[in-house]
Amino acid sequence: MRNKHSQLSRVEAHSLLKKMGLRKTVARTNLLQCLAEQTSLKSQAEICELLAPHGFDTSTIFRGLTDLIEAGLVVRIDTGDRIWRFELHDRDPDGKLQPTHHPHAICTSCGEVICLQPELLEKLAQLVSGWSLSEFILSGVCPECQNQPEA
Ligand SMILES: [Zn+2]
Ligand SMILES: [Zn+2]
Repeated sequence: MRNKHSQLSRVEAHSLLKKMGLRKTVARTNLLQCLAEQTSLKSQAEICELLAPHGFDTSTIFRGLTDLIEAGLVVRIDTGDRIWRFELHDRDPDGKLQPTHHPHAICTSCGEVICLQPELLEKLAQLVSGWSLSEFILSGVCPECQNQPEA
C-alpha cells in the first residue's frame, strides 16, 4: 500500500518528463509534483483546487493530465462512479515505470478509494492464465461505513 507521502523534486519531475519524451512545462511539472505528494487518489476537481495557488485554469490542468496519462506517468482510475481519479503510475525505487500498476478498492457507500498491494494483481494474473491484467477494482463497504448505523 502506498500511503506514505513522497516527494518529487523539480529535477526528478523534469527527468521523468524527458524520459517519456514530453517537453517540460510548468503545468506538467507541477502536476507530477502535486500528485507525488498525495496519500490518496485525487479527482480532477481536487487537483484543480490543489494547484489553484499556481494560477492554472481547469483546461490547462485537463490537458496536462491527458498528456501525462498518454505518456504513462499518471494513471486514471475509473471506479464506475463517474468520478475519474488520478495518481502517479507505480515506479521502481530508481524511478523507472513498472509494467503494472497496483489495484484498488472502492467503498460503495461513501466512495472512498484505497490503494491495494501490487502483489494482488500478480497473484490474480497467475490465476487468469493468458491474460495481461492491467486494472483491478474491488468494491465493498469500508470499515467506517460498516460501523455506521443505517440512516
Ligand atoms: Zn465507506
Ligand atoms: Zn492507487
